[in-house]
Amino acid sequence: MFMVAKKVKCPKCGNIIKIEGNPGEKITIVCPKCSTKGVYIFPKKDDTTRDIKEEIEKNIEYVIQVRGLSKTYNSVKAVQDVSFNVKKGEIFGFLGPNGAGKTTTIKSILGLIHIDGGYISINGYDITKYSKKAKKYIGYLPEKVAFYDNLTAYQNLCFYADIKNVSRDACKPLLQEFGLIEAMNKKVGTFSKGMKQRLGMARAILGNPAILILDEPSNGLDPRGVALVRRKILQMKEDGTTVFISSHILSEIQEICDRVAIINKGVIVAEDSVENLGAKLKLKPRMIIELEEISEDIVETIRRMPGVEHIDVLDKRKLEVICNSEIKAKVILAIEENKGKILNLQTKEPTLEEVFLRLTEGG
Ligand code: ATP
Repeated sequence: MFMVAKKVKCPKCGNIIKIEGNPGEKITIVCPKCSTKGVYIFPKKDDTTRDIKEEIEKNIEYVIQVRGLSKTYNSVKAVQDVSFNVKKGEIFGFLGPNGAGKTTTIKSILGLIHIDGGYISINGYDITKYSKKAKKYIGYLPEKVAFYDNLTAYQNLCFYADIKNVSRDACKPLLQEFGLIEAMNKKVGTFSKGMKQRLGMARAILGNPAILILDEPSNGLDPRGVALVRRKILQMKEDGTTVFISSHILSEIQEICDRVAIINKGVIVAEDSVENLGAKLKLKPRMIIELEEISEDIVETIRRMPGVEHIDVLDKRKLEVICNSEIKAKVILAIEENKGKILNLQTKEPTLEEVFLRLTEGG
């Protein structure tokens, strides 16, 4: 059995008393300050679980830890045995097709739904045991932002500043930053989807949270809004914030995320940097070759070469070739042998979209 150390508060004088005992043990405590007597029973715990939890709690280089998360709605297994870690200061992308379990995972991390199994910690705090403490670190943008429609943008933001114990002085600069200063005295009920999303971002970063959880932050935003949010995310990372972001816009995730996890049908199918995922899946780089003129001979010769996976004529001058790295030089030689003149050559690494499509096939 493991001895468990615990601090208890004397109900009479408020003195904090340190006690030790075994799970299930009943002990009598006498307060050394006011001599009040009491009884404490150490909760029974499964030793293995306790062991794992202690190891996780110590390891707080991981700001978010999810271990064996499972959640079923009636008979629908929304997430099954989901595990991943988010490191301090990184931007972590969470991707998956519709209905894959992203929002369920996010709601579980935030302690908003009852989970069937697993363990989640935020900065080392078990979300089920220390929900209040854990949530203090988090700024959250939900998938569907909601505000008090009959309050103005400024009043709404002040309301949340009060809840978060943040000075109301922070509200106007945020409204300015998200392009809402002119609309700050308008009721949110009159706002467009994009304006509500911008206000949602402002609310999420009120008080400079250490962890930012964003569920589809680009929802309803115009390109200027998307760029604004992206710039803000990168700036927050510079300032040390850890960002967890779920999105369908794969190019955006590829540009800003340090690592990604891909979830499909409730199961994590990959967790790594985009580059490493591409390498693991043996995805081949694409060559875009610009020629003075494309001839049938060139296309057919390349098509027949062993190691060439795909060739496509993009336009009058451009060819796309996907092949093993080792035969790239042979492809170029074949073009020259067939009297082709190369004007430009670009190699593109596998995109997150290719990785995503490969890992969620049939999803
Ligand atoms: P999307 O990208 O479409 O928002 P998602 O990856 O966020 O999807 P979830 O919303 O987590 O997916 O849903 C995962 C599964 O759980 C789906 O099959 C969904 O229908 C189901 N589900 C989610 N919430 C509930 C609920 N409250 N009651 C019943 N089933 C639910």
